[in-house]
Amino acid sequence: MAACVRFVMPMPAYFTAFPAFFRPFSKAFHRPWHPLVLLLVLALWLTTLGNVPLWRTLWALTDSHGLRTGLGLLAMGVIVFTATTVLLCLLVWPRWRKPVGVALLMVAAANSYFMSAYGVVIDPSMMANTVQTDVREVRDLLSGSMGVVLMLGVVLPGVWWWRQPVQEWPAMRLLGRQLGLALLALVLMMAVIWASFQDLASTMRNHKSLRYMVNPFNTVYASGRLLVGQTTQARMSLQPMGEDAAVVSLGAAGAPPLIVLVVGETVRAANFGLAGYARDTTPQLRQLQTSGELTYFSNVRSCGTNTQVSVPCMFSHLGREAQAKNDIPYENLLDVLQRAGMQVLWLDNQSGCKGVCDRVPNSSTLTLKDPKLCPDGECYDEILLRVLPERLAELEKTRPPGKAQVGTVVVLHQMGNHGPAYYKRTPADMKLYQPECRTNVLQDCPAQEIVNAYDNAVHYTDHFLGQTVRWLKTQTRPTAMLYVSDHGESLGEKGLYLHGMPYMMAPPEQTHVPMALWLSKSFQSQRGWDGACLQKQANQALSHDHYFHSVLSLAQVKTRWQKTELDFFAACKGPAA
Ligand SMILES: [Zn+2]
Repeated sequence: MAACVRFVMPMPAYFTAFPAFFRPFSKAFHRPWHPLVLLLVLALWLTTLGNVPLWRTLWALTDSHGLRTGLGLLAMGVIVFTATTVLLCLLVWPRWRKPVGVALLMVAAANSYFMSAYGVVIDPSMMANTVQTDVREVRDLLSGSMGVVLMLGVVLPGVWWWRQPVQEWPAMRLLGRQLGLALLALVLMMAVIWASFQDLASTMRNHKSLRYMVNPFNTVYASGRLLVGQTTQARMSLQPMGEDAAVVSLGAAGAPPLIVLVVGETVRAANFGLAGYARDTTPQLRQLQTSGELTYFSNVRSCGTNTQVSVPCMFSHLGREAQAKNDIPYENLLDVLQRAGMQVLWLDNQSGCKGVCDRVPNSSTLTLKDPKLCPDGECYDEILLRVLPERLAELEKTRPPGKAQVGTVVVLHQMGNHGPAYYKRTPADMKLYQPECRTNVLQDCPAQEIVNAYDNAVHYTDHFLGQTVRWLKTQTRPTAMLYVSDHGESLGEKGLYLHGMPYMMAPPEQTHVPMALWLSKSFQSQRGWDGACLQKQANQALSHDHYFHSVLSLAQVKTRWQKTELDFFAACKGPAA
């Protein structure tokens, strides 16, 4: 029969040449990578796209973008590239080449996102904060733009990185070559540093935050510091405090007092009505101040710029400077109060007490279900007052029969103004300032809307403190309330958002915090203090360093750990006391 006819369509010459044209490229793509070349590709990615915030900040440092700026940036680029190469040569070995690469991409992308979005930098205390975060805090930070950054910075390059074939080399040969490359990069880095030292040194001196912006070194350094600190602390046993502590006799008429310590969150003095802010964000406290029941302390500095540093520091006897250098694990104010025989209770509406309440009765609102106060799984601060009476009753039941009641100290740890989702801190019927920013991507909001959301939360704290005082007034015992915020917040000033700047370079918005004290009439007369002596302290330069020593006075606990010079009630104690 008819022969099978092969039907061949005539094709244009360029069409048939097409695959041939791509063959060398495809071959190059599929040929296994030289391990050192692949390592250099990763170093280049991390130096350039993995450090966008650093380059943007450096670019914005000068107005004149002439030759000198260009050379300075180039020098910095070579330094970061060579330093990254050294790091990769030491970290990336065949067995964990792929996961380490992806981890570094994740670090660079996440750091870049937070640095660009909020102007924060990555230092050891920020790292500690990150490690101790909880689901609620993470949820508050998630956003669409974060998803995009992770997609472009982690998923796409990560998949590419994971799929690359790499030449297999004998271990010793690879070791030799990789260390050789590290040495070469190191020499080049030193040469560039030497050549550009003058400009480089002055830039780094004048802009200290830059050193915490270089990815991934900021994270490597911070993790290392954190790990060393934690292992040093873990190796030492907890130092007991206040074995000598005792409550000064209250006398025949002395009913045991109830003291409420409110640990505020992220409230800065700049937006506090009582501090002279243009908006009266604190009307209830103002009313108490006008009636002479409340003292506002106008000049108080925080110990740190984040919760992780500030809260333990407030309850420590050491104070800011000593605390920063300290590796010895000490007990804290709550242990001393408990040793003195007081009942101590920590109620938490936040991500925990940062170790401060480990040895005293404590409870968290995390699992509470209250349709009004805890919609969407997060509770407004008033939940603390709702549970307080029953928790106090439970605490009372644990008191051994026959043991005298000498006083109670309750710590209420607020959610306060925790950002960036400030709008989540206030119930719908308490949003005085409108319109408010209703996203956690603060840059997407006009500045005034961010301030509105923030001020609503301050106003809610005022309401919460007013409620606390109202409840304390219903108690038959002498009562007191001391409120102080743990640190402040940046709301876009100088391009900064949130908090957590290294203390030495932190703006006052992050360290100037509000503090207020309310005393019931019976508490004042029990102590023999009057408003005038407290008023003397109201404008003194105070800080969290005074907290430990002053609360001991408030509770009338005597111990050798108390320093009179850091007790702001000392002025109220007559010579007889
Ligand atoms: Zn905080």
